[in-house]
Amino acid sequence: MRNMKLFEHEAKEIFRKFAIPTPPSGVARTPDEARERAAEIGRPVVVKAQVLTGKRGKAGGVRFADTPERAASVAEQILAMRINDLPVETVLVEEKLNIRQEIYVGITVDRNERKYVVIGSAAGGMSIEELAEESPEKIIKRYVDPDLGLQPFEAREIAIAMGFRGKQIHGLASFFVKLWRIVTQYDVELTEINPLILTEDGRFLAADARLNIDDNALYRHKDLVEALRRAPVEQNERERLAAEHDMAYVELDGDIACICNGAGLTMATLDAVALHGGRASTFLDLGGGADAKRVEKGIEIAMMYPKVKAILVNIMGGITRCDEVAKGIVSAREDGDVKVPLVIRMVGTNEEEGQRILQEAGIPFLKTMEEAAAKVVELVKEAA
Ligand code: GDP
Ligand code: MN
Repeated sequence: MRNMKLFEHEAKEIFRKFAIPTPPSGVARTPDEARERAAEIGRPVVVKAQVLTGKRGKAGGVRFADTPERAASVAEQILAMRINDLPVETVLVEEKLNIRQEIYVGITVDRNERKYVVIGSAAGGMSIEELAEESPEKIIKRYVDPDLGLQPFEAREIAIAMGFRGKQIHGLASFFVKLWRIVTQYDVELTEINPLILTEDGRFLAADARLNIDDNALYRHKDLVEALRRAPVEQNERERLAAEHDMAYVELDGDIACICNGAGLTMATLDAVALHGGRASTFLDLGGGADAKRVEKGIEIAMMYPKVKAILVNIMGGITRCDEVAKGIVSAREDGDVKVPLVIRMVGTNEEEGQRILQEAGIPFLKTMEEAAAKVVELVKEAA
């Protein structure tokens, strides 16, 4: 299993993209840079060793500084350290939070169950292994239904089980929901916020960030990833259109166009189609937050490829709303763009409204990726 770990500051960058609150921070490679970062923040800071190992705190790799001058000298000491035999090449300089409570939240793959499991504890700060040993009753665990994904109400239930009440339930639940989005977008093997800090003034912020990406999916699709990376010298009309609309588009040898949101999900969809004996013609990643127009454009581009004999739309609604996706599908069909069978699977945000729109238009949809992949392969075989 190949596994790619991200540095805390890289993980926090991704967190911010998904609107997970993190304290203001900046990266420094020298004491001078650390002084500058601290001055920019303009408040007491914490200086943190950026190494790919946990327990930096215990090793002395997490230290506080009240002034930029002090941040420079603390950074100098940390940059000279080795932690678990790893040299410290950069530090993260971050606003120091006033802690009311340290909380643990995370999502990881349970290899035995072959499911994602969401983990939370109001007793954060310690590693989850220590916590499991000392007070297992304080750890809340919930498996995620692989087809439905983590539902917002489940996230709230976890927050309640962790002991939170009132408006804090929603505050904490949103961390789980956002982490789940990251998990589905990046083929995450483990993501963890420890500690997630509840500040004296009642805010929740990610003070630490761990993100390990399973690049198996990418690995299986090496040629595809390469095709996505290199800018084609000569683009055909479809590739040009897709690029213009900022969609990731690759043409393959099969006959089933896979239109999805997120590279990880698109690759997983290609795999599901292959598993059911079909072959994909198209990798089309709409990206995050696609609206009806974008979905319609994606279908239109996919249909321009003469090899396409069926379309499979597979959407995990998060930022992307299922009702918007449904509207896009319906209007693509009304425009007469779709001359082949269309199979839809979508779950997540506004799922019910999306299904209602499809139902009214007489477009069938399926609940799981497996069913959808099986269906689209069957339809292609029937047509042949
Ligand atoms: P790790 O030891 O490698 O997991 O590093 P962390 O980032 O988790 O930091 C270790 C500990 O330092 C945390 O559990 C906190 O107790 C403390 N810490 C980290 N950031 C802050 C902060 O912004 N403010 C305060 N007061 N403490 C912090
Ligand atoms: Mn930590």
